[in-house]
Amino acid sequence: MTIMGDCIRDEHCVFCKILAGEIPAAKVYEDEETLAFLDIAPFNYGHTLVIPKRHCHGLSDMPGESRDRLFAAAALIAPVVLRVTGATGFNLLLNNGQAAGQEVPHAHLHIIPRFVDDKVLLNAPQKQYGDGEMAALQEKIQQRLAARQAAEN
Ligand code: 5GP
Ligand code: ZN
Repeated sequence: MTIMGDCIRDEHCVFCKILAGEIPAAKVYEDEETLAFLDIAPFNYGHTLVIPKRHCHGLSDMPGESRDRLFAAAALIAPVVLRVTGATGFNLLLNNGQAAGQEVPHAHLHIIPRFVDDKVLLNAPQKQYGDGEMAALQEKIQQRLAARQAAEN
C-alpha cells in the first residue's frame, strides 16, 4: 500500500493502476472520490464500473463518504447509460467478497444495462425457510444491528 495524495493505493490492483493512469480505460465520469469507466468485458454494451478512488476491498472497509459518493455517482450515471444504449432497465451490482464472485479486490459497482429477454443473469432457484428459521434470523440480524448502532453512538 502507498499513499498517492488522498488516495491509498495497492500496487497490485488493476483498478488502482487505472486510477494512476498506468492502464488505459474508457472513462465516463470522475469526481473527487469516484471514477467510472466501461467494463472491458461487458455483459451488455455500456456495462460501466464505478469505483472509489481510495483502494478498499468492499463496503465494510470503505469510508462512509466515499461509499455515499459511489452510490450517488451510480445513480447519476445509470440513467445516462440507459439513454445512450437504448436499454430499458439496469442492474446495479456489487460483488462483495470472493464467495460473491468478486474478482478485482477493489470495491466497485457494476451498472449493467438490460434489455427484455437478454438472458444476461442466471436465475437461481429460490429457497424457502423452514419453521421458525426466518424469525430466528430476523432476530439475530436485528440484535446485531442494534448493538452496532449503539456502539457507533
Ligand atoms: P468483479 O467480478 O470483481 O465484480 O468484476 C470485475 C470486473 O472488472 C469484470 O467485469 C471485468 O470485466 C472488469 N475488469 C477487469 N479488469 C479490467 C480492466 O483492466 N479494465 C476494465 N475496463 N475492466 C476490467
Ligand atoms: Zn485498488
